[in-house]
Amino acid sequence: MSKKIRKISVDFGLCEANAVCMGIIPEVFDLDEQDYLHVVSDEVTPENEERVREAVRQCPRQAISIVESDA
Ligand code: SF4
Repeated sequence: MSKKIRKISVDFGLCEANAVCMGIIPEVFDLDEQDYLHVVSDEVTPENEERVREAVRQCPRQAISIVESDA
């Protein structure tokens, strides 16, 4: 059976750089001085999953999603 990995995906066309996600989990989401959002670490791990899901829920633009793929 193949192992699945889950990664954080941001639709930058939807993102309005309001930093809601960064406020929830700053080690994953970072806004630079130009208000451009970076996904610092895109892997969903057991340690960060709960807060990543919270960021998905709270993003006012619904720009964040979790995508699953084969490892
Ligand atoms: S919460 Fe959503 S809209 Fe706001 S910076 Fe994060 S991805 Fe962009």
